[in-house]
Amino acid sequence: MKGDMAMEHNKSLIRKIQMDCPLCDRIHEIEVRTRMTNIIIRGEEVEYEETYFLCPNSDKEEQEFVTGQMENENLLKARNAYRRNHGLLTTDEIIAIRKVYGLSQVDLAKLLGWGEATISRYESKAIQDETYDTMLRLIKENPYAVLDFIQKNGEKFSKRKKLELKQRIMDHLNEEGKEFLQRKSLESEYVDYQEPCDENGYRLLDIDKLETIISYIAKRVTHLYKVRLMKMLWYADALFFKEHGIAMTGLVYCHDDMGALPIGHYQIVGLEKVNTKMEEEYEYTKYHFLPNDKLDESILSDQEKDVLDRVINKFISFNAQEIVRYMHKETAYIKTKDGEVIPFCLAKEIKRL
Ligand SMILES: [Zn+2]
Repeated sequence: MKGDMAMEHNKSLIRKIQMDCPLCDRIHEIEVRTRMTNIIIRGEEVEYEETYFLCPNSDKEEQEFVTGQMENENLLKARNAYRRNHGLLTTDEIIAIRKVYGLSQVDLAKLLGWGEATISRYESKAIQDETYDTMLRLIKENPYAVLDFIQKNGEKFSKRKKLELKQRIMDHLNEEGKEFLQRKSLESEYVDYQEPCDENGYRLLDIDKLETIISYIAKRVTHLYKVRLMKMLWYADALFFKEHGIAMTGLVYCHDDMGALPIGHYQIVGLEKVNTKMEEEYEYTKYHFLPNDKLDESILSDQEKDVLDRVINKFISFNAQEIVRYMHKETAYIKTKDGEVIPFCLAKEIKRL
């Protein structure tokens, strides 16, 4: 029992530092510790991790203390815990939005038509209201919205500043804007599938994961073209569903001559982070899928990678016709008609891979 308690106590020890101890009034070794604690914010109990100093030389009653800076950081953590509980942007997320567009606290506040100190307060001591949070999210997700705000609140900036801001946003748009538009276009194909259901394998479309999965397959399969990739995506989703009761990507697949084909397949090929090379062959254009090294495979779980590896191993030596012929023998294909959505209750009956 004593041992357990000592361990429990040790867990929170972060490091030891030499400092001027206000309790002993001399320089000696002080422990920096953390622990979970509660605080009331806006009438609500919030749990967060606080950091404090502990003087091992003082008696048990009065051996803890905090500095002013530490207290501020603790409060910041508490407020961020509250924000997370309420689905509001945390301080770091607000700072990240500013950094993406290269805006100072004052510039961002002026841009959104707020008081000049508003952003500074949100980054240090106040929790934003939901309306403010919504506006921040809007510009986080949509660089075009930032241009709208420059149009609307531009008179708050000098002419030179306004031009400079516009240029910075345009640069950002060139990088992120295309991806944004293509994502919106793919998402619009999925408006009927905003709830988990048998058609999407009880998973909402996850474009980040889809892009990463395509890159993952392309890295391991050379000469990866559209027909084979689309089939492999279906097999990966079907197998994952069979084993885990949920699909991986959230794609909805239809019965097509060539097997399963996801809704929005043109948009998928067009996604900025899906690396394709157009190749002309006779009368038509082929899309050669290549890996995208900028995508982080660690967003895929071990279970997901395992399923992908098995699908890749199975079909790596198949050509397009072979994989199409293989898919034609699946129950999911036989029991659906041309153009119909292939439900996952049928997909899970795939042959053993
Ligand atoms: Zn001391």
